[in-house]
Amino acid sequence: MQCSRVLGIEGTAWSLSAAIVGWDKVYAEAAHPYVPETGGIHPMMAAQHHANYISQIIRQVLDSGYDFDGVAFSQGPGLGPCLRTVATAARALALAYEVPLIGVNHCVAHIEVGRWQTGCHDPVVLYVSGANSQVIAFRRGRYRVFGETLDIGIGNALDKFGRHLGLQHPGGPKIEALAKEGKNYIPLPYVVKGMDLSYSGMMSAAKEAATKYPKEDVCFSLQENAFAMLVEVTERALAHTGKNEVLIGGGVGANMRLQQMLDTMCRDRGAKFYAPARKFFGDNGAMIAYTGLLQLKYDQTIPVEASAVNPIYRTDEVEIPWL
Ligand code: AMP
Ligand code: MG
Repeated sequence: MQCSRVLGIEGTAWSLSAAIVGWDKVYAEAAHPYVPETGGIHPMMAAQHHANYISQIIRQVLDSGYDFDGVAFSQGPGLGPCLRTVATAARALALAYEVPLIGVNHCVAHIEVGRWQTGCHDPVVLYVSGANSQVIAFRRGRYRVFGETLDIGIGNALDKFGRHLGLQHPGGPKIEALAKEGKNYIPLPYVVKGMDLSYSGMMSAAKEAATKYPKEDVCFSLQENAFAMLVEVTERALAHTGKNEVLIGGGVGANMRLQQMLDTMCRDRGAKFYAPARKFFGDNGAMIAYTGLLQLKYDQTIPVEASAVNPIYRTDEVEIPWL
């Protein structure tokens, strides 16, 4: 169908955000992130936060005055209570404005916003966020997962280690800053199994190392080790698929050391590395709205009665007719 703009809402975990997006740009956006005072993300507290602030952020984007042809929301994967809160608001909005409702897979949205923002076409995607670490590539109508973590996501691993050091959530950016001061590499378990990764053993070893070595050195070693694992699997996916572009997405993608390592690997093999602007890495409403726009064009809308959320929605469950 002909469509020009979609209103999208994100709220799978910490980020509560909404945006109105057209094919050319983001027309309006508003966000109210959930920041836990202590510890990590508590699903019920995050959902309560979203319930408290969702009308405020939706009001802010509506006040921009831009109209829209559909309402998109992250249907999953994510924390159940958060997903349900956002879905309820999206359903109400679609009904009130008499526009189609569009359920968006959050991981696919990270990929599509990256393709949109960088202009790459058919990349191997390294998607690294709080809960997810996946190496993805398009093949026969879907984004296929070529490799992924077998236990925790790289972002959660960094955040847990950060909490162990007494840093406030999220730990990722603070570890990046500490790692810049680190000089000595402390060996940590390097766990790549075929195309898959595992981070839990490395985390235990890093916690142990932090009792003996300067935290800067442990942060440095943790990044070098964890990111080398990601780059290895990404490189093998390039070799298997014969593609020549790499796109990075997800909150951990903002890490400059990870970007540098991927860029070096790409140069060595004659591939091109793509990274979107910083604000499109972490979860954001614009990525949901933009993917909603693509889905609306291909009539991937859902009736309100069949719009249940899916906390374990897999990347490769989604048909991708636009590639
Ligand atoms: P997302 O779930 O995609 O919004 O990503 C959130 C995750 O990104 C959290 O685990 C953060 O610690 C992590 N993160 C954000 N910025 C950085 C950074 N500069 N380096 C490493 N991790 C980061
Ligand atoms: Mg995410």
